[in-house]
Amino acid sequence: MSKLKIAIQKSGRLSEKSLALLKECGIKLPNDDRKLKTEARNFPVEVLFLRDDDIPQYVEQGVADLGILGENEVKEKDKQVTVIQKLGFASCKLSLAVPNRENYTGLSWFDGKKVATSYPRILRKYFAEKNIKAEIEEIGGSVEIAPGIGLAQGIFDIVSTGSTLLMNGLKEVEIVMQSEAVLISNQSLPAEKQVILEKLLFRIMAVLNAAENDYILLNAPNEAIAAISALLPALKSPTILPLAQEGWSSIQSVVKEDDFWNIVAGLKELGARDILVLPIEKMVI
Ligand code: ATP
Ligand code: MG
Repeated sequence: MSKLKIAIQKSGRLSEKSLALLKECGIKLPNDDRKLKTEARNFPVEVLFLRDDDIPQYVEQGVADLGILGENEVKEKDKQVTVIQKLGFASCKLSLAVPNRENYTGLSWFDGKKVATSYPRILRKYFAEKNIKAEIEEIGGSVEIAPGIGLAQGIFDIVSTGSTLLMNGLKEVEIVMQSEAVLISNQSLPAEKQVILEKLLFRIMAVLNAAENDYILLNAPNEAIAAISALLPALKSPTILPLAQEGWSSIQSVVKEDDFWNIVAGLKELGARDILVLPIEKMVI
């Protein structure tokens, strides 16, 4: 039987979460880190451990069928691959930054300036779209020190909290793209691999949905059930069970993690008591 080959980052910011996702999908890998590739014991996949820079090329060529990496890297490498699914981790942005002391008034500040980056292709495209004529200095890493050592006047790099910029006396002036980890695939997967991919995606969606949602339980007087049900989001409709105490019911439903704080005050106002919120392990809709 054929196996689906999935390329993930060997070591770096994506490795642990990529492995964790596979594990949550029920895919059991041998506990053996430093290998180049490994096979799952209970699902037809093989995992290849690579540098994230190389993943788009390997997926394009079919050396790997799937890959997990940052959207930023997918866009920079610009290979013929399909982005199948956003995975909700490794969120960051690619931004332009300049020294704090600069009086930045707009993108035209970059006209005639030199900008250091490890993402020349994305930046070149962006400047071309905005009609900015700047020089791009490609460097491999530690981009944030470029203005300090006189290599460039501005930088274009990954920003998450902004603390690296702050430490280097820089300020973010333009956000060029948002990025998160994505699942990419080869563009001509044979039918039998497509079948495995569907199975894997089914599991990935169950994991992602579960991560976004919580299970909510609360007690309410029977006369408040209708109003509370109207306020509570639900998959189909909330579960309502009578409590031992006459006139009261337990209401159970699923809420988006992000929505919970918006509705909790309303629930209490309507008479809800003893509100519990629990994580969901898997969720198949
Ligand atoms: P490799 O050795 O595999 O080439 P790398 O040094 O290029 O690794 P990492 O620093 O491990 O890459 O980052 C991998 C990806 O994680 C980035 O391409 C980006 O999508 C994301 N990422 C990078 N920095 C951050 C950050 N500070 N916060 C969140 N995500 C980030
Ligand atoms: Mg890399």
